Amino acid sequence: MIHRTDYHIHSLFSDGKAKPEEYISAAASAGISEMGFSEHLNLFVPGQHWCMDPGRLPEYVSQIKKLARREKKIAIRVGLEVDYFSGKEKETYEFLNQFDLDYIIGSVHYMGDSTVDSGPDFYAGKNIDNVYRDYFARVIMAVESGLFDIIGHCDLVRIFNFKPSFDPEPLYTDLASALKKHDIAFELNTNGRNRPLGDFYPDRKYLHVFREKNVPVCVNSDSHFPARVGQYFNEAYSLLCDAGYNEMCTFKKRERFSLPADYSTI
Ligand SMILES: [Zn+2]
Ligand SMILES: [Zn+2]
Repeated sequence: MIHRTDYHIHSLFSDGKAKPEEYISAAASAGISEMGFSEHLNLFVPGQHWCMDPGRLPEYVSQIKKLARREKKIAIRVGLEVDYFSGKEKETYEFLNQFDLDYIIGSVHYMGDSTVDSGPDFYAGKNIDNVYRDYFARVIMAVESGLFDIIGHCDLVRIFNFKPSFDPEPLYTDLASALKKHDIAFELNTNGRNRPLGDFYPDRKYLHVFREKNVPVCVNSDSHFPARVGQYFNEAYSLLCDAGYNEMCTFKKRERFSLPADYSTI
């Protein structure tokens, strides 16, 4: 029996396509026991259509908490997916600290002025080896910032299938070591299956690296519409089983809990 959680969900508060309520009923149908909203928040590049206006944070938190109080079957958490910007840690901390959140996903979407997931053009003419090294270095800085509870899609740079010429395992090893050292979880994010990559983040080949370092894990859908809540989770659980995982983590009020998870029962 698995306590199914899904902490990476975007509603109309950011770039999701439906109201929070619609995701709750979808989660119930998908057998999810605990779900969390994680709207995009970007404090340093204003006017991005995919991000929530930071001024709406109080309204967002209070609306999700209201839904959580009303809901009987599913535990509902309120979180954010926050863009990490190096050098802006203090401002980010002070802003986030004002709100009563259950968890914060830290994600790297930006390299320079562009986002790595907006289109393949970002990669044109670039040295892909350097893009990989630079991306992982930024993710490790996000880990070291101590701002986040979960690191989102930690190898998003795979999204358009550009591959480095070298075996990137050492990048995953360094990342897993940093996650362990700073006691931060990673997610097995199933959304890459619907993107050109056609697979999850991180690369399934390296899940064992996270397991060897005992990095806490949760499975997330990164849903932008209700039908995706919990999508491909059985496959994700079986990958975690193969990697030797027998636990999952849950979050409440910025505290992480560990639950036994018998992934072999899926
Ligand atoms: Zn993201
Ligand atoms: Zn997301």
